[in-house]
This record gives sequence, structure tokens and C-alpha cells, in this order.
Amino acid sequence: MPVARPRHLSFEFFPPRSEQAQARLRSTAGRLARYRPTFCSVTYGALGAPSRDLTPSTVRSLRTEHGLEVAAHLSCIRTPRREIERLLEAYRSEGVRRLVTIRGDRPGGQEEETDRAPGDGLAHAAELIRLVRARHREHFELWVAAYPECHPEAPSLQADLARLKEKAELGAQGAITQYFYNLEAFERFRDECARMNIGIPLVPGVMPIHDFEQVVHFSARCGAEIPRWLATRFAGYGQREDRAAFALEVVGDLCERLLGLGVPGLHVYTLNRSGPTEALLARLGLNPVEAPPVAATPDIRPHSRP
Ligand code: FAD
Repeated sequence: MPVARPRHLSFEFFPPRSEQAQARLRSTAGRLARYRPTFCSVTYGALGAPSRDLTPSTVRSLRTEHGLEVAAHLSCIRTPRREIERLLEAYRSEGVRRLVTIRGDRPGGQEEETDRAPGDGLAHAAELIRLVRARHREHFELWVAAYPECHPEAPSLQADLARLKEKAELGAQGAITQYFYNLEAFERFRDECARMNIGIPLVPGVMPIHDFEQVVHFSARCGAEIPRWLATRFAGYGQREDRAAFALEVVGDLCERLLGLGVPGLHVYTLNRSGPTEALLARLGLNPVEAPPVAATPDIRPHSRP
């Protein structure tokens, strides 16, 4: 069913590591730019990926080649403070105005003791927000991560929400959630946030299902739950086309219902593919905007708040 155009639409990419992957991202970004997203974001070492160095150049090319507003992800885990400060200066001098400030995924097998880089390293996203605000005041619009199904390391949802509240009070201007397939978990999470006066916009993260096994693999690592009914239904489909149609139906329904709840918009985890994201947007009746994209300049932020 077509939905009204949401106030916020963002797409997440990861930095490509080969020429072929670069070409794919270029094509994906070109296609998705036609939807005039509020911003695109570029991950930084997500799932422990050794591609952190590629984030700044990916941010740069999305801005200059496609005229996209870009939010650079920046994490603090096992990162020397001076490296974070260097990156902040570099982004600022290039005119980047948005960051997704996160702690960062622990590389496989790492424990809490190694989160903080030796010396004056930072261990939590809240400490990173404090550093950005102390050094750069209001230059950057800051987004943070939130977990409707609770962060896997948190002792309880209440404790996790208290951390989200802390991030909002320190100056985060919006939160993007981990993806989920349980609408009810999101509704309860949203209600709890309201009860705790966490007033920042909560933008649901949406993971289209292109390859169900890959989503199951990611979910085991990031703590998103795959409902049993979903796995059972996927197991029952033999044909690729049937699986794709079911995936679109599930994620499309989820998005329709989320937008029906009045969320500010959607953040799509694209995995650098345009097909599943475009199919989802088409299903929602969200079409490309025909006007040519606005070239990126440091001070143009067409939708600076969702
Ligand atoms: P935090 O807010 O620091 O919370 C982490 C855990 O510590 C939580 O359990 C929290 O409850 C707890 N906690 C927080 N503060 C304290 C404290 N003072 N004392 C004790 N416990 C505390 N990972 C990447 O590596 N790169 C990316 O680019 C990336 N992008 C992401 C984007 C989004 C939208 C999301 C949802 C996640 C992303 N991640 C990324 C994953 C993220 O880094 C992990 O989920 C990480 O485990 C937690 O990050 P955080 O910013 O939520 O951490």
C-alpha cells in the first residue's frame, strides 16, 4: 500500500574493498540518490571489518560524485583518542556535518577489557559524544545507535535505555535502531523511551532480506532476533523467486506498519545493493524524486532534523 513520503529516509553503505565493489557502490549510490535521502551513512569497521581506513574516502566520493548528504560513522573501540581527533578534524575541514557516533563492534573474540585503547582511549559511545561536543561544539549533527531488542551486552533493557538517555542528554540529535523483525519489540521500546523522556527521533533501521542465510549470520553477531515463524517460512520456500517475494512482503509490511505508527522515517541497511532497497521503496509507493540532486556543500542540510 502506498505510504506518505516520510520526513526521514536514509541509506547505509559500507566502504568497498575492491574495484568491483567500488563500481557496485557507485551504481547503487547513483540509483538511490534519485530518492533524495535525508542522508546516506558509511560504516566504520562494522562487524570488526578491517576497512576503517576506507571510510573517509567513501564519504568523500559519495558527497562529491553523487551530491549526497553523508553521515560518517565513527567508533571509539580500541581507537587511540588522537586518531579520533584527527578524523574529526579531517571531516570538519571537508565540510562533513553529520556523524553516527558509536562504540563499535568488538572484533571476533575480543572482551570488554580491550575496548579502551591504551592510555586515554574511550570505551563507550557516550564518551565519544562528549569528546566531539568538547572539541567541535555544535558543528556536527550526531546520531547514535539504539536497540529495540536490547543491546546483547546490556544487563537489561532498562539499563540499555538509561545509556540511550545519557547519549541523548550529551547531545545526540537522533537515534537509528538496530534492525528487527518484531514490530512489537519496537513499539514497546518506543513507549519506554517516551516514558523515560528520551525525546530524540527514533528512526527504525530496516534490513531488506536479499539473502536470508546472510541475515541470520549477521543477526547472530549483532543480537537481532530472527523470529521462528520467519525462519520456518523461509525454510519452506524452494524457489528463489518465492523467497524474494516473501522477503519483500515481510519487510514491506513491517515498514508500512512502522510508518503507520508515526515513526519519523526509515534507515535502510542496503549492504551496498540497490535492488532490494528499490523493491522495498516501490512496494511502499515511494518513487524517485525527478529533480536532479543538489550538489553537496558544507552548509546545505535540506533535512537537518528528521
Ligand atoms: P554504547 O552506547 O557504548 O553501548 C554499548 C554497550 O555498553 C551497551 O550494552 C550499553 O548498555 C553499555 N554501556 C554504555 N555505556 C556504559 C557505561 N558507561 N558503563 C557500562 N555499560 C555501558 N559498529 C561498527 O563497528 N561500525 C559501525 O559503523 C557501526 N554502525 C552502526 C550503526 C547503527 C545504526 C547500529 C545500530 C549499530 C552500529 N554498529 C557499528 C554496531 C555497534 O557498534 C555495536 O552494536 C556496539 O556493540 C555498540 O555500540 P553503541 O554505540 O550502541 O555502544
